[in-house]
Amino acid sequence: MWRQRQPYAGGKSVLSRRHCGWAAGLLAAIGIASVGGSQGQRPVAAIAPPGYHRAAPVPSITPASRTPNSAAGLVPVVSRVGTTRPVVFLTMDDGVTRLPGTIAWFLRHRIPATAFLTDADISGDYGYFRRLQAAGVHIENHTVHHKLLRGKPFAAQRGELCTTSSRFMRAFGQRPTLFRPPFGAFDNATQRAVGICGMTKLVTWSVTISNGTVQYARGPGLRRGDIVLMHFTKRTLAELDLFLRTARRARLQPALLESYIG
Ligand SMILES: [Zn+2]
Repeated sequence: MWRQRQPYAGGKSVLSRRHCGWAAGLLAAIGIASVGGSQGQRPVAAIAPPGYHRAAPVPSITPASRTPNSAAGLVPVVSRVGTTRPVVFLTMDDGVTRLPGTIAWFLRHRIPATAFLTDADISGDYGYFRRLQAAGVHIENHTVHHKLLRGKPFAAQRGELCTTSSRFMRAFGQRPTLFRPPFGAFDNATQRAVGICGMTKLVTWSVTISNGTVQYARGPGLRRGDIVLMHFTKRTLAELDLFLRTARRARLQPALLESYIG
């Protein structure tokens, strides 16, 4: 959700965050409420580091749909997975900074992960993500332009989602089954568009790793079923190692999100 604007240049890119951690954390908490009914949890935002705010659009916090309604064509919102297995799920967003070492890391560790990619950020370098895909990372939909969707007309939202899925089908040979909205912000139109564009779930998160720090939406400690959010940044390798250490300490095994909710 937070971004590096400059395209990949040998790993040297200028960090320019546009993601609002506060809003995203709060929205993640809303996502939790919409799935598990566990309202009143402390949002990630409560422990966001100073300066983590951005001038990104801060959406209304009115929840779009606390009760997923498949009859109305609204796909479910998933912020963590209900499972009795000791598993945790790694997700990585956007795709702006493309370190060769990230592919090597996945080849070395063989950890399953899901990448929610923004087409405008990666369309000049699909090859990098095809190599990442070959290393075990599944490619999913994070819109074309990374604009705030909430409040936008349905047709505009559908265009962002369906265009991305069609392009990813051509680029990666698989049509996305999961969608993550930019900034974690969505409304009923988003949930409808996800289904119409051929995806089955709208995915937020319950844990974030950024700036070398793990932040929990539901209190300290990684728990089974948690969905961890990271980004492709210059810190990715250190944060991947941090993810792995945190999971091992919690005795949780990284698992593929699509195998549980796809
Ligand atoms: Zn994003």
